[in-house]
Amino acid sequence: MNLVTDREWTDCCQCPLGSRTPTRVLHRFDPDPQRFTDCLFVGEGPGDMEDAFGIPFCGPAGRLLDRMIEIACSNLQRRPNLAWSNLVACKPQDRTGSRTRTPERIEVACCSTRLVDLVEALHPSMVLTLGRAPRQYMPAVLPLALRSATIIEHLVHPAAILRAGGCESPAWLDGVRTLNLLLWKSINETQRRRDFPTA
Ligand code: SF4
Repeated sequence: MNLVTDREWTDCCQCPLGSRTPTRVLHRFDPDPQRFTDCLFVGEGPGDMEDAFGIPFCGPAGRLLDRMIEIACSNLQRRPNLAWSNLVACKPQDRTGSRTRTPERIEVACCSTRLVDLVEALHPSMVLTLGRAPRQYMPAVLPLALRSATIIEHLVHPAAILRAGGCESPAWLDGVRTLNLLLWKSINETQRRRDFPTA
């Protein structure tokens, strides 16, 4: 499903990243617009697989996150309604294109309107940042009104769990436990919003 504002970004070249790839990796979300979005995951930027397919979190780290979500949801009252995006929609890479890197502050700032549009459209109960750059930048990306209406939490990036040994590592267990608590919290916040819509 696309959002109305997506077409504004499909040819965007507001920052230098846009001239190094034709792909704008915008977002993906569970296809149930009747429900509130419980949790929006925000990573750094598209990697090789995401750049190739135009879908956020479709590479090895994304598949690990999907597995973490599956396990973390197993004892929840329902499966949360989820969405995925990144700080920047274009793969952050060096000039030769041989290395993926962390997006720079100016690139995040250029792409921030897109994320604000996404949060306004999905109205997630929780924004869950993955990795150091999203944790650092995301609170500043959201305007005050959105920030005070959204819980912002942080989870270790699944790529870090992969580097630590994947499903066999202690980091995996910690990550799944933390994700379980955070998704439970997001569902409860959604329920609170439904019960007290003006609170
Ligand atoms: S990263 Fe965002 S702001 Fe920069 S060119 Fe791509 S879509 Fe535009």
